[in-house]
Amino acid sequence: MRFHDAHCHIASKSFQKDFELESSMRKWIDMGLDYVIGVSTKYSESKKILDLSKEYEKIIPGIGVHPWSAKKPITDEIKESFFHLFSESKQVVVGEIGLDYHFIKNEERYPYQEQYFRFFLQIAEKNNLPVNIHLKGAEEDVASILSTYRIKSSNVLIHWYSGPTQTLKKFIERDYFFTINPSILTGSPHIEVLKEVSINRILTESDGNVKYTINNERVIGSPGIIPKVMNKIIEITPYDLDEISKILYDNLRNYTNIG
Ligand SMILES: [Zn+2]
Repeated sequence: MRFHDAHCHIASKSFQKDFELESSMRKWIDMGLDYVIGVSTKYSESKKILDLSKEYEKIIPGIGVHPWSAKKPITDEIKESFFHLFSESKQVVVGEIGLDYHFIKNEERYPYQEQYFRFFLQIAEKNNLPVNIHLKGAEEDVASILSTYRIKSSNVLIHWYSGPTQTLKKFIERDYFFTINPSILTGSPHIEVLKEVSINRILTESDGNVKYTINNERVIGSPGIIPKVMNKIIEITPYDLDEISKILYDNLRNYTNIG
């Protein structure tokens, strides 16, 4: 089996509390890990994941500011510091970026979320970079903002979609990528994505270190959980493990332009 994790918070402090990186990476690579996209929620993580990607060739760095971290207006100084980070590596993903009206109830922060989101979309547009998008509760606003940037559809990844079916259909028409994550093992409505989206537009993710309860057992998200997700994908789709491994690998290459 070979597999990838298209959205994992490897550079976060809490992930590294749960997993000792060197031995864990070795274990995951032995299991068949091709690549893990290490997304960031803020500047310090973006810097750290760039360093980690130089140490581990299987890590693709994700640079970005999560909507939860967009608490103040973006400044020129902040923009400069990110421009500098982006100049350090060619093989990068822009993420985790987006909007969140579900977990963030304070509406005063929404304009700041949008400022950050647009800033990173502009960078992606200018440099032809893939984006890794969070949109909980803000699906329609994300749809309309995205439509104003010239970003290739195969460079747009919608992470952990669980919003309205109508917006899901809109994104499917635009031919975006979607992640499938371990919540499909918990009876979550997220499974609808797998049923609606073409298999050629599916990637897998752990969103590590998010915690899932699977069959009354608490499991910490990490690349090591992806084989379980793939087994569930096999149950639902007409493909066997070899076929799914190949399809998903080709999808990751298509999304990141890697390899
Ligand atoms: Zn995430």
